[in-house]
Amino acid sequence: MDERRTILMDRYEIGRHLGQGNFAKVYYGRNLATGQAVAIKMIDKEKVSRIGLIVQIKREISIMGLVRHPNVLKLFEVMASKSKIYFVLEYAKGGELFNKITKGKLSEDAARRYFHQLISAVDYCHSRGVYHRDLKPENLLLDENENLKVSDFGLSALAESTRQDGLLHTTCGTPAYVAPEVLSRRGYDGAKADIWSCGVILFVLVAGFLPFHDTNLIEMYRKISRAEYRCPRPFSVELKDLLYKILDPDPSTRASVSRIKRSAWYRKPVDVNGLKIKQETRDKVQKGEPTTSESTEGINAEVNQEASSSLTNLNAFDIISLSTGFDLSNLFEEKYGRREVRFTTRQPAEAIFAKLNEVAKKLKLKIKKKENGVLKLAAPKEGMKGILEFDAEVFEFAPSLHLVELKKTNGDTIEYKQLMKDEIRPALKDVVWAWQGESHPLPEKFIRGEQQQSPLPSLQQQSPLSSQQQQSPLPLQQHQQSPLPSQQPQE
Ligand code: AMP
Repeated sequence: MDERRTILMDRYEIGRHLGQGNFAKVYYGRNLATGQAVAIKMIDKEKVSRIGLIVQIKREISIMGLVRHPNVLKLFEVMASKSKIYFVLEYAKGGELFNKITKGKLSEDAARRYFHQLISAVDYCHSRGVYHRDLKPENLLLDENENLKVSDFGLSALAESTRQDGLLHTTCGTPAYVAPEVLSRRGYDGAKADIWSCGVILFVLVAGFLPFHDTNLIEMYRKISRAEYRCPRPFSVELKDLLYKILDPDPSTRASVSRIKRSAWYRKPVDVNGLKIKQETRDKVQKGEPTTSESTEGINAEVNQEASSSLTNLNAFDIISLSTGFDLSNLFEEKYGRREVRFTTRQPAEAIFAKLNEVAKKLKLKIKKKENGVLKLAAPKEGMKGILEFDAEVFEFAPSLHLVELKKTNGDTIEYKQLMKDEIRPALKDVVWAWQGESHPLPEKFIRGEQQQSPLPSLQQQSPLSSQQQQSPLPLQQHQQSPLPSQQPQE
């Protein structure tokens, strides 16, 4: 590599070092073809594989494809070399939000604008079954227009691993933003844990210091678990009231996003970029009617537009994660051997399950049960290593683009592979769009992410899903809610 000009995969020029995370170094980058400024996060593959995170990361990379919101840092592309994974991200020119606090705490009005954007991002991600689980200052960046960009949504596997061992916190930061139920490693609800962190962030923005702090880590854990904090005197009554509802150590009574949005403090109008607040909004506030801040209105419009065009917005990342030219699952699974067979399909979820039922009937497979979007199938007779069993699970990437995973849960792998090859694959061929791990129908230019239009322009009309399905892809929700298995880092 040239000392002065470092080029990554013939596509990006790497510039200055922007920051350092637990597993990654972040550099400024420039797309050589378009000149676009980006941030390139380099993750050491060996480091993450050593602590057994590859499978989670792979899954979570796929999940990041579901998240498109003006206040969530965009992931443009994922690339990989033998030793590194590269995330090409939207560049947040304004740097970290918390650099602002080092220059002085914010007024409640200024903090409200950022808090609205944070809650908007969090609410949107939760509605897609994606939980952050590591919201903290380093993850709150600003673009050139002072808009908040939350980074690392969906990458909670990395966050989780740093949380396995309290010691890691002393070297990589503090648990100051983490909810008590997460610290105590009881099972937890990802949504409620994120809301707690939002409360801590809000406190810090207005106070200029942490609500829970102690040089002794044990003492700090104790303060967090009892929600022992004091609001500085200048805090308004409304703000204190909201913080009290958010920083509730009991997740079952902690405020939900909708309760936060109904709170008096949240509903005060936001003065966007110092512009005058509309008279209409003032009137609503005076009458005690709910208001939508101008910033949130703009965001919602953008989100709705993005959601309605989610398929036409399939970006290079979607293509990469779905295609085989750059199939990350291949990259990650070399060591593990394959128990899964995956395919993408343009069929709606109901049609996929109907087809799986039909195939099961034809092959005399027993359908053991279907719960949380997972169909459990079993061979009619004992095989070499007991009854061959496998799960069929459907993941929603976009309203009419699903990934189906057929995963062996019991029995002999060779028998499983044989069954897939000889029976299942041929029987499913009319619903399959592309098998993962095989040559892909997309032209190279789509895989390289050089186009902006969808390679599947008519998908959306072909298989509309019910609004309920669009809102909560069940299997994803399930995975995100359950904390990762507790494995001790070996480092
Ligand atoms: P992370 O590993 O995401 O915590 O990133 C470490 C640091 O790199 C952050 O705290 C930021 O200072 C910087 N950084 C990360 N992503 C970006 C980005 N997209 N644009 C600008 N700076 C970034």
